[in-house]
Amino acid sequence: MSKPKSVLCPECGIPLGLAEECLWLNSGVIVLAHDRLRRQCFIESENLDPTFQLVSKMGVPDIEDLVLEAARTRRASRTRERIPPEVRAMIRNMLLNPDVLVEAMVSDTQLRGFGDCEVLDLLLQGGEKDHATIRVNHTYSKPLFFGAFAGLIEGFLDRRLAFTLRDISPETCEMSVFVTGLADTCSMSFEEKEYCHRDGDIELERCGSCGLPSALSRLQWQLDRSIIKDSFGLRMVLFDPQVLDLIFKELERRSGKTISRAIIEAQCRFLLNSSKRELGPSRREISDELALRGLGNLREFEMDRQGLRVSVENAACHLNTAGAFKALFEGLHGGDSRIEWDISENGDLELDVRP
Ligand SMILES: [Zn+2]
Repeated sequence: MSKPKSVLCPECGIPLGLAEECLWLNSGVIVLAHDRLRRQCFIESENLDPTFQLVSKMGVPDIEDLVLEAARTRRASRTRERIPPEVRAMIRNMLLNPDVLVEAMVSDTQLRGFGDCEVLDLLLQGGEKDHATIRVNHTYSKPLFFGAFAGLIEGFLDRRLAFTLRDISPETCEMSVFVTGLADTCSMSFEEKEYCHRDGDIELERCGSCGLPSALSRLQWQLDRSIIKDSFGLRMVLFDPQVLDLIFKELERRSGKTISRAIIEAQCRFLLNSSKRELGPSRREISDELALRGLGNLREFEMDRQGLRVSVENAACHLNTAGAFKALFEGLHGGDSRIEWDISENGDLELDVRP
């Protein structure tokens, strides 16, 4: 099946599909255009799997299973929620061509920078022979991507499936999901957190033609490879932040705050090693960057040699954000630093970095 062709805005060059998919709110939050209770955000992705491996080295068992299961559970419930039962039944009963599903999935991975995916085999008839096989080159994260794929098919069929996952090469991986006689063994419950809008003061400059934030044109959209890169050349994905927040929360519940501190440190080292800044960005630049990525609304920002104090309203993926601020401080002032942070129930992040 040929790849869906993305249409780019003639003025800013951003894929127009993004304007149909997401809304940038004045609160530093990105939500789905068709469901404003669900957040999205742009994050760097190359450090995700190395961070999970680091956590595993710290003695947390079965981390890859946990990550895969979180992505899987989340995607299965979102599929059931988003696609009405009668549409899912039409595909299962062959009244609707499953190519519709394949095309939607492939164009979604393209728009989100998840990697180059191809559906090799698909049979969805609501029977015991149902199965699907997918191959992905340069996936942004193996357990997150394949967990979501298994969840998507499970959401469609409304049943738990078995799967196999195999590496074809260092860059290429295949997953098959199929019906099994085994009982459902979903081990995770997912507490859905809806976005509750709080007005902010963010005004991102917009493209006059498509209405998307103009700064998105700084990203490199390599749509033929389903890859997005930022201006430092780091790979980015447009992503559901609740999956990562759930994983990190579960890790902290199992192993304490030491794990969260290690995740912040891993993000800090990754950014220091890969995106050198010559000059400190202004408060306005930081505020716009956070909002562009849907990571929250910068309310306080004070930095000098003695330290950095930040407060972000509506924070998402807050450990990654905390790591990025620690990297900003260390990159500009040199040496190691110590960070303390706190995140409230409604997502207000306070952090303090000291040399
Ligand atoms: Zn445009």
